[in-house]
Amino acid sequence: MEIVPGIHQVDGVNGNCFLIVRDELTLIDTGMPRNSAKIVNYIQDILNRKPTDIKTIVLTHFHIDHVGDASDLKKLSGAKVAIHEADADYVAGRKTQPAPRGVKGMIFKVLIPLFFGSRPVEPDIKLNDGDTIAGLTTIHTPGHTPGSICLFDPVSKILFAGDLLMFNGSKIEMGSSLSDPDEVQQSIKKITAIDFDIMLSGHGIPLRPDASLKVREFAKSLP
Ligand SMILES: [Zn+2]
Ligand SMILES: [Zn+2]
Repeated sequence: MEIVPGIHQVDGVNGNCFLIVRDELTLIDTGMPRNSAKIVNYIQDILNRKPTDIKTIVLTHFHIDHVGDASDLKKLSGAKVAIHEADADYVAGRKTQPAPRGVKGMIFKVLIPLFFGSRPVEPDIKLNDGDTIAGLTTIHTPGHTPGSICLFDPVSKILFAGDLLMFNGSKIEMGSSLSDPDEVQQSIKKITAIDFDIMLSGHGIPLRPDASLKVREFAKSLP
């Protein structure tokens, strides 16, 4: 599905996976494992391009529903994989996410190998706040994970928000309950400084038009 000219969402992949189509292809997130064929088919059949045109894979954070095919796609495209430095050891399989306390933590320990433990990939590029990657500005927005990022494309005025925020079709919601809520709120306030027309998140549907105005409105409701 073409969001605006040159920005696509690969249909049928969860979490959401986006392609920026210019001279080079840039992939933002890769969905759950076993979606790489869908992504490759989209590139070949819809875009009439080659998987080797992907030069950069940018991961918004290390969760498996975003990095599940990064290893496969890196191998078959030769692309460089980029992630914030605070999430690099997680995606490389050297660290596992600490479990929350209490009952949630007990459930989490059972689920952790399913959600976070598989398909490690060694990142080629470790990002920091303010870095430019494939024409996108990196905004460090920790809380959902330590190294969660948003990516701003100044050409299309799109903000790729990862799991910081999502639009479910009727309202804006914060990322999942594994997050540190205080840090998430600080990160949401941080992105209200940016002007963007469309917000594309890791889940849910595109928020447009006037996405930054709507996010600012949402941020006012936070403590
Ligand atoms: Zn996540
Ligand atoms: Zn997610």
